[in-house]
Amino acid sequence: MFELRCIECDAKYSSSEIIYRCHCGGLLEVNLDLDLIEVTREKLRRRRFNLWRYREFMPVSKHAKIISLEEGGTPLYKADRISERIGIKELYVKNEGANPTGSFKDRGMTMGVTKALELGVNAVGCASTGNTSASLAAYSAKAGIKCYVLLPSGKIAMGKLAQAILHGAKVIGIRGNFDIAFKLIQQASRAFNIYLLNSINPWRLEGQKSEAYEIIDQLDFEPPDRVILPVGNCGNISAIWKGFKEFYETELIDEMPQMTGIQAEGASPVVTAVKSGKDKIEPIENPETIATAIRIGAPVNASKALKAIKESSGTAEAVSDEEIIDAQKLLARTIGVGVEPASASSIAGLKKLVESGEIDKSERVVCITTGNALKDPEAILSHYKKPVEIEPSIEELERIIRR
Ligand SMILES: *Cc1c(COP(=O)(O)O)cnc(C)c1O
Ligand SMILES: [Zn+2]
Repeated sequence: MFELRCIECDAKYSSSEIIYRCHCGGLLEVNLDLDLIEVTREKLRRRRFNLWRYREFMPVSKHAKIISLEEGGTPLYKADRISERIGIKELYVKNEGANPTGSFKDRGMTMGVTKALELGVNAVGCASTGNTSASLAAYSAKAGIKCYVLLPSGKIAMGKLAQAILHGAKVIGIRGNFDIAFKLIQQASRAFNIYLLNSINPWRLEGQKSEAYEIIDQLDFEPPDRVILPVGNCGNISAIWKGFKEFYETELIDEMPQMTGIQAEGASPVVTAVKSGKDKIEPIENPETIATAIRIGAPVNASKALKAIKESSGTAEAVSDEEIIDAQKLLARTIGVGVEPASASSIAGLKKLVESGEIDKSERVVCITTGNALKDPEAILSHYKKPVEIEPSIEELERIIRR
């Protein structure tokens, strides 16, 4: 029914094996037998709207104990005030900040932690820029297994750090950036039998591909021309592209969107590779951006992401921190959607690509906003006008109101 397959050399591995990379070093992906999947739009529509609506596409065994917080089923808003502003025909915002712990990582973790139980492990772990750890902490708590998270010390948005602590994960600060923490957790996972739930884990991406299914479902099975999202470790864009391909191959849709990845200027190895037509990235030593969720210099799933962009005739673009904050403000103040900085890069990228003419004004576009504003209140408090403070008198208040 399903197995692991190396995307480089096509080697196959059993789904009951704990393995994160092929012996050749290539990334693994889950291979489903799509011929066995019998669903229709109508059948899907009769079910509750969350990730498990698409359970035929989720590679778990029939009797698996599914660890779920009812992730997915996030809103898709029509963003008319933004499309008018940017000058594009039709724009939708898929708000992944509405997931249980406030980011799309929950889609990965319902699958990943369910798989961890199937494999019989009793400890899971990850390195994280914040959201992965927040999500894994919550799902492992629900599953009743141990959770270790390695975080770049002092570089984690406050909300995310608080969540990992709240849900009882063993939180370990690392003096180094994400890429360094990720190297360490990979070693630790082998040495101490910790099941690794970073996005190198192919099962996790199986959950995240549901973002594609939902977008199609919410647009009445009329695929958009383009999907734009922030790109850090490159798992999500790869997962979503896989989702579209699976709906295409099972004939639920007959067209697929162009995948467009946005990175921050200070952390944009994928953009550099795409623009120079390379199929490999050059890692960046010291990535920097206000968008901490995508502050990653050596994205582990880069080869999958570059494939997704190429196969879909998509593109990639880099945006500045200033453009990110402007886009965050635009989302918050025209359509009422509060997002963390990384998420706003999708809108910032759309704006830039429309201005440069790379995106045609007649397109139907979906921007994915990946994480909730409350994740990173400091980014807001340090980049926006502070509230005024006055003595409690009606005269002073009048002065402010009439100003
Ligand atoms: C994890 C994350 C990203 C990046 O996703 P990748 O799969 O690492 O490319 C973007 N935005 C937010 C809010 C995230 O939490
Ligand atoms: Zn291989």
